[in-house]
Amino acid sequence: MTMTATAQAEAPAGRFPRAENRCRVVSNDPVNAEYRLLLVEAPATGLTAYAGQFFHLLCPTTHTDQPFLRRPMSIYRIDRENRRLGFLYKVTGKGTRALMTLGPGDELNATGPLGVGFDLPAGTQHVAMVARGVGLATLAPLARFAAERGARVTAILSARAPDLLMSRDELEAAGAGVIEVNDLDGTSKPEDVADRLREIHAEVPIDFMATCGSNRLLGLTRGLCAEWGIPGQVAVEAFMGCGLGMCFACVVPVRDAEGKEEMKRVCYDGPVFSVNEVTTW
Ligand SMILES: Cc1cc2nc3c(=O)[nH]c(=O)nc-3n(C[C@H](O)[C@H](O)[C@H](O)COP(=O)(O)OP(=O)(O)OC[C@H]3O[C@@H](n4cnc5c(N)ncnc54)[C@H](O)[C@@H]3O)c2cc1C
Repeated sequence: MTMTATAQAEAPAGRFPRAENRCRVVSNDPVNAEYRLLLVEAPATGLTAYAGQFFHLLCPTTHTDQPFLRRPMSIYRIDRENRRLGFLYKVTGKGTRALMTLGPGDELNATGPLGVGFDLPAGTQHVAMVARGVGLATLAPLARFAAERGARVTAILSARAPDLLMSRDELEAAGAGVIEVNDLDGTSKPEDVADRLREIHAEVPIDFMATCGSNRLLGLTRGLCAEWGIPGQVAVEAFMGCGLGMCFACVVPVRDAEGKEEMKRVCYDGPVFSVNEVTTW
């Protein structure tokens, strides 16, 4: 993937200005039954993060959990003015359970920023993003980045149930128009979401799409990008070891333009790829 001047404007010279950032926890509060928002004060290196990149978090050792490896977490909020970073995380196992125990004043050791984030083409007029679950965390800073550069942003947020939807405020504050869909009332069916996007596209043409959080949404995004002849990108997740490109634990199969398959590292070559490259989210 080539980086445009637009995306790189957020990042300093060099591809990976990574560092071990010793951050100070500001707050770590639940946002719903599954997710928590961890806000930390970060040193200058951490604040160079841009949308789609991630940090590898050293989770604390607790009475019950000794998470050995770091855990990857997308950057959800980059607040350079107040020198803060935000992570929106779901408590799933011992690493995130241990993260949950961090309180104000505690230290969080976060390696990063890591990986290749979103590459918003210069001159993009209308970004449509479709996200589900953890994807909401990953796409939020892209909405802000795009809106700050004058692009219209339409965000479709999908969840199992209405009470699991989140990030509406974050996205609206970033200037995005937000549409919520869920499985309970049946509005999240990919064919219905695609029709809604077609209506929006007919009014104000969409020229870039981004997705994260679901294979069905990846398929939908790939299909609409092909239909409209526009670029689309997806932030991918994989189990990680080092997070630095050395251990190859997180390789996924990707296809090049000729359809030839090769393996790429999510942590180093991604986590953001073209929707045409990857087969699964
Ligand atoms: C680049 C990247 C960005 C991510 N960003 C976020 C984020 O912003 N917010 C968030 O909540 N999570 C995010 N994740 C997923 C997060 O890293 C895992 O949920 C976390 O590592 C789980 O650790 P654990 O010790 O709590 O759970 P574990 O005990 O390791 O696992 C608990 C459960 O989670 C599943 N799981 C663990 N790791 C992953 C993974 N990488 N992908 C899919 N399923 C996994 C396991 O199958 C298991 O069922 C991201 C992952 C990657 C690779």
